Amino acid sequence: MSQKLVLASGNKGKLKEFGEVLAPLGFEVVPQSEYNVPEVDETGLTFIENALLKAREASRVSGQPAMADDSGIEVDTLNGAPGIYSARFSGEGATDAKNNAKLLEELKGLPQEKRTARYWCVLVYLRHADDPTPIIAQGSWEGRILEAPEGEGGFGYDPLFFIEEQGCTAAAMSREEKNKLSHRGKATLDLVSQLKARG
Ligand code: IMP
Repeated sequence: MSQKLVLASGNKGKLKEFGEVLAPLGFEVVPQSEYNVPEVDETGLTFIENALLKAREASRVSGQPAMADDSGIEVDTLNGAPGIYSARFSGEGATDAKNNAKLLEELKGLPQEKRTARYWCVLVYLRHADDPTPIIAQGSWEGRILEAPEGEGGFGYDPLFFIEEQGCTAAAMSREEKNKLSHRGKATLDLVSQLKARG
């Protein structure tokens, strides 16, 4: 019998990807909408805190184990901004296009070596809402911010996020390649290995 695991997200892509990876471990990943879990305010100051807030609420309302993810991009010359505010970088009514435009503006005129950045993804798994020892998995992905977008795929900051080793942006990669290299892919592997170690 599989164990339900409530995903604190409404994103269908994430549901499918986590579902596939966690099924061999005996989990049936279900969306939080199945339990009418309300959206929580992401009031934390770190990816870990925000992921914990979301997972805890999903577990509390559903009465089931839950997991949540939180991710964003950290730009070195901006002291780590936009960080946890990546989705809302350009303020009220933010879109990917507006966020990217703001990032380009903030980095205007800076040479390549001052445009380093990385994506972060944190995954939190809770056995129950009061679980004192959550599993916290993390992954990061190094790149630099181009001066103009390149590539048609991906989402968010991907058209500006250039990866030296691959010689292209995250938006120019296939979905499979991105999943293998990305912060989210690495965090997912970390989560699987920690779940296996716990037995
Ligand atoms: P969330 O954790 O899914 O809410 O993502 C937060 C924000 O971080 C997104 O809205 C994007 O702006 C940015 N982000 C996170 N992961 C990626 C990625 O893989 N590509 C591009 N942008 C990302």
